[in-house]
Amino acid sequence: MIELLKSEIQTPSKKMYINLKCSTCDNPTRHEILATNESHWQSDDGQLSSWESHHLIQCQGCMNTTFLKETQFSEDLDVNPLTGEQFIRTERFQYPELSEGREALSELDLLPSIVKKIYKETSAALNKKMNVMVGFGVRAIIEAICKDKNISGSNLKEKIDDLENSGYITKEGATILHNLRFMGNEAVHEIKEHQIEELNAAIDVTDYLLKGMYILPKIAEKLPKN
Ligand SMILES: [Zn+2]
Repeated sequence: MIELLKSEIQTPSKKMYINLKCSTCDNPTRHEILATNESHWQSDDGQLSSWESHHLIQCQGCMNTTFLKETQFSEDLDVNPLTGEQFIRTERFQYPELSEGREALSELDLLPSIVKKIYKETSAALNKKMNVMVGFGVRAIIEAICKDKNISGSNLKEKIDDLENSGYITKEGATILHNLRFMGNEAVHEIKEHQIEELNAAIDVTDYLLKGMYILPKIAEKLPKN
C-alpha cells in the first residue's frame, strides 16, 4: 500500500528558472517556475518512495504558460558515468506534449502568415499522430497558397491546374498536388485516416513546394547579382 505523505503548493520566493524546449513555441528557452505542487508517496514499510513535482512554467520567449511534471521513484536508479555514483532518475513530462519526430521547415518566417500558421498546425498534428487532421491540413495549405497567389478556379482541381499554367509549379508538381487534393478530399468526405508514411510524404511534397514558391525566391533576392 502506497500512501500520500505530503502534497503542498509552493510559489518560489525568488525567481527560479529551468531551461527546456518550449512545448508551445518549440524553441529551447528559459522558463520561469511560477508555482510548484510537490507530492511524496511512500509504501507502508517505508522502503519505497515516489516523488512528483507539478510545475506551472512560463516560457520567457513566447510567454506562454505550460506544465512540467517531474517524477522520481526510489528504485529507478542511474549511474553517473564520471563518478560511478548512483542517483535516482528524474522523468519529465510536459503538457502540452512536446512535438517530436519531424523537424519543421526552416525559414518559416518567409511564408505568408496564413500559410505559416496552417503549416505549423499541420506539422504539430503530424507529430501528435492526429492523422485525420493532417489530411485536412495538407489540403488547407494548398488552398492557402492558391489564395495567396491569386490563383483562379472554382474548385481545388482548377486551382492546381492554374498553378501549373501560371508557371508556379511543373507538370510533375501539379500531379503531386492533385494526389494531395485526393488525400484531402478523402479526409474530408470519407474521414479516411492515412498511414503516417503517406502523410509524411505529403508534407515532404508540401515542404518542397513551399521552398520553391516562397523560400528560395526570397533567399535568391538577398544574393549578389553577377
Ligand atoms: Zn515558448
